Amino acid sequence: MSPAHPRLRSLHAGWIEVIAGGMFSGKSEELIRRLRRAAIARQSVQAFKPSLDDRYDAAAIVSHDERRVASTPVADVAALRRALAPDTQVVGIDEAQFLGPELVPLCVELARRGKRVIVAGLDMDYCGEPFEPIPQLMAVAEEVTKTHAVCLVCGAPASHSQRIAAGSGRVLVGAAEAYEPRCRDCFEPPAAAVGAPAAAAADADPRPRS
Ligand code: ZN
Repeated sequence: MSPAHPRLRSLHAGWIEVIAGGMFSGKSEELIRRLRRAAIARQSVQAFKPSLDDRYDAAAIVSHDERRVASTPVADVAALRRALAPDTQVVGIDEAQFLGPELVPLCVELARRGKRVIVAGLDMDYCGEPFEPIPQLMAVAEEVTKTHAVCLVCGAPASHSQRIAAGSGRVLVGAAEAYEPRCRDCFEPPAAAVGAPAAAAADADPRPRS
């Protein structure tokens, strides 16, 4: 699938693409693929990610399969704006759910200035609730790609991220040890989010928890 349909894209207009999905659904891989294609086409590319996300490497966007592209870690949207080079044509932003609502007007502004903006991020949090600003970005984007993982319980396409590690904060950066992909049927919202006793949620899942 080509993200930038040539017939739909005017030569000079900016454009917003959103790659949204759960953990392990290949968002970073797809972002990297698009950025590489743009670089091969000799477009000037800049990639950013929140400095909060330091799982693997502070200066690269790294997917779970270890493919990477050079990127600039930014603390917030203001830092991203400062780091943008004037001649950049393609702007990639990974883990955008950590950059907050100010990201939406910046993406719109960049598109208006003629840049191709590619944003990847989690569309739902660990409670299964929309994770702003990704839903807002999906609304203003020209194109949205939903990526899916494979449910570790039943093998169906998975759009939810089941937190299997302790912790109730919305931001819990982690990889395989903290989350697993689940489909809608197998996803169990955290007990606190649905008002059920924690013991009941634990009983419903017989598999061991660490
Ligand atoms: Zn399932």
